[in-house]
Amino acid sequence: MVGIVMTRRGFIDASGAASAASLAAIAVPALAVLEASSSARVMGQPMPDGVKLPSTPGRRKRADSVGIAIVGLGGYALNQMMPRFAETERTHIAAIVSGSPDKLQRVGDAYGIPPDARYSYEAYPKIASDKRIDAVYIVLPTGLHAEWAIRAFAAGKHVLCEKPMALSSADCERMIAASRRADRKLMIAYRSHFEPYNLEAMQLMKQKAIGDIRLVRTEQSSRMGPTSPSKNWRVNRALAGGGPLEDYGIYGLQSALYLTGEMPESISATTFRPTGDARFAEIFAHVSSQWRFPSGAVAQLVTSYDSAGVNFAQVRGTAGALMMDPATSYSGQKMRLEGRDARELAPCDPTVQFARQLDHFADAVRDNVVIRTPGEMGLRDLRLIEAVYASAKAGRTVSLASDGSVRR
Ligand code: NAD
Repeated sequence: MVGIVMTRRGFIDASGAASAASLAAIAVPALAVLEASSSARVMGQPMPDGVKLPSTPGRRKRADSVGIAIVGLGGYALNQMMPRFAETERTHIAAIVSGSPDKLQRVGDAYGIPPDARYSYEAYPKIASDKRIDAVYIVLPTGLHAEWAIRAFAAGKHVLCEKPMALSSADCERMIAASRRADRKLMIAYRSHFEPYNLEAMQLMKQKAIGDIRLVRTEQSSRMGPTSPSKNWRVNRALAGGGPLEDYGIYGLQSALYLTGEMPESISATTFRPTGDARFAEIFAHVSSQWRFPSGAVAQLVTSYDSAGVNFAQVRGTAGALMMDPATSYSGQKMRLEGRDARELAPCDPTVQFARQLDHFADAVRDNVVIRTPGEMGLRDLRLIEAVYASAKAGRTVSLASDGSVRR
């Protein structure tokens, strides 16, 4: 698809390669308003709280199972993703990469990772000659995704990268270019695209189960305890960008796109950052934006690190409404239709999302299956995040090109 300017619909599907024209689109410096107190670099951390290591190591099920090196042994890797490899058909943990010798030993022993497949960050380039590793899974703080993904491509490995893809569209473009140069796959770990409730919601919206979509509302919020940028990467500008929007507000952003099936043509946003609160010395407390779509539908997206917890998506159409609450959690999803076809919906266990995502990546690596959540989708979303910040900074509505970049 290189050389073809994608349509608004093309950027919603975002399954093809980004076009040369789109990569050259106007870049808006994200977050120029915020200062970072430090730069983004890897730093070993202690074992997170509440980690339950397995009592027996996992086993690969198939000869063509994709061997994955986990890069970053934090809460999400250890509590959510690594235990899920046992549920996959076609992936296994081949190696681990961490700055903590203690975690390398304890996690390596529990998961049966051979000692010579336990890498420090300094030893990372050596994965190039380790034939047991087909791919890496980047689960580092977001400000480190681009560097460590690009280094993985340089080592000839495929990359599964946690969301958000990076902290700027420019970094996303560098990652896509590196994946193409290396001729290796790049997938963004947007788990909702593998989660049965969200998949059914996408289908229902396509089938016009609520008529024509008029309004979308999403919110992801929680209240962060006392902390500061030197103690917690999630409030550190260099590692977390603007904060809640990149962290979990991106789920609301994604929902608005895949439920409407449209790209917005304009965005109007506002941010808030209280003074004298160490949590918000470098990031925003709340980010709120209003999007207008070509069909006339309007979306309101709210996300906060300083208000009581919630995670919902609501879509209102001409013949009913779709209510998802919680909408994009690890488990416990609830969803119902109101209006013409009113009913509770419970497709199947939402926790299959983790293993299905990993197997989809394996199918892309082994069988060249088209990736549902490619780097181009991550790039599209970073452009929209930049548009949100550009609007808030300018104090006006910004118009968007079809690829999500801000029109001058
Ligand atoms: P975390 O703080 O629990 O773990 C981060 C890990 O990265 C640390 O344990 C450490 O091993 C490593 N690290 C290396 N350099 C570091 C540095 N300078 N500062 C801090 N840690 C450093 O974070 P997490 O919740 O595991 O998040 C990691 C990534 O996973 C992020 O990109 C986040 O957005 C993503 N995530 C995704 C989901 C999801 O549902 N898909 C959920 C949580 C987190």
